[in-house]
Amino acid sequence: MALGEFDLIARFFTRPVRRAVLGVGDDCALLQPTPGMQLAVSSDMLVEGRHFLSTVPPDRLGHKALAVNLSDLAACGARPLAFMLALALPRAEEAFLAPLAQGMLALADEHDIELVGGDTTAGPLNLCITVFGEVPPGQALRRDGARPGDGVWVSHPVGGGLGDARLALEAFRGRVTLSGEGFEQARRAMELPQPRVALGLALRGVATSAIDLSDGLLGDLGHVLQRSAVGATLQADALPCSALLAGQSPALRLECTLAGGDDYELLFTAPDDAAVHAAARDAGVAATCIGRIEAAPGLRVVDGAGRTVPLPWRGFDHFASD
Ligand code: ADP
Ligand code: MG
Repeated sequence: MALGEFDLIARFFTRPVRRAVLGVGDDCALLQPTPGMQLAVSSDMLVEGRHFLSTVPPDRLGHKALAVNLSDLAACGARPLAFMLALALPRAEEAFLAPLAQGMLALADEHDIELVGGDTTAGPLNLCITVFGEVPPGQALRRDGARPGDGVWVSHPVGGGLGDARLALEAFRGRVTLSGEGFEQARRAMELPQPRVALGLALRGVATSAIDLSDGLLGDLGHVLQRSAVGATLQADALPCSALLAGQSPALRLECTLAGGDDYELLFTAPDDAAVHAAARDAGVAATCIGRIEAAPGLRVVDGAGRTVPLPWRGFDHFASD
């Protein structure tokens, strides 16, 4: 039986409201932010063929669509409140929608936030989520606060590192061959990113700047350097990577960690190492210092012998022609 627009919204995307004043089913949702808090708002769109491959299982796609949005709140040190889902679908099929909603709502439950509304239309598969969070005035982590002398840090899974998502993409493209287990590990990094919300909260008052890694470390750090009017030197040997990626060629390892994209870890700067270690421990993630902010503009990467590492990659840009 074909599902209509309103049937599918009711069946897959409507649950009783808990915190919102009004959720799915009216012309607007009504949210009640905590008095005195600032609202943090962000949107991210996932387009089939651009942001995900058609091979992604729908539950993982639902997870990732929300995860990349929560990652933006994490990068601002905001506490998630609620989200909206604008969805274009080629067909209304239960076999696709049920796991999509399940993956998305399971992550929402983990972060205690609710889906309060959205829009649904027929069209090429496309998911656009808008998240709402809150942060005390003046405490949001921003891109413009890095200062000379600050350490440059990245979060990563305990025992893991950056770049596994890119490694998976290269395996899908046929550029590298991974064992079955290695492929599954890399694929999980690509399809099931874990937004570092707890770390973002713990870094309030600790980090001087932050950004989430979505387009590759070099490009994303470049945004922080530009907005903060500073430069940085990174140590190539300090870049954290998984055993899986460490087993690849040095060139591929460098490319995946420095220019990989899709990591959804936090990159941040901070003057006090001990405070960062305490925040990371509280949040249950690893954080590694990979370099230092300097007054001289530009981004340099050096190897263990102090030699400059060439950087032939640019941050991902949807409209760059090359
Ligand atoms: P309107 O005609 O006012 O734009 P719609 O008919 O598009 O409203 O949607 C009906 C209700 O369902 C609204 O409350 C809207 O926020 C909600 N909604 C639509 N699509 C989704 C979705 N994919 N997920 C959650 N809520 C949705
Ligand atoms: Mg509508």
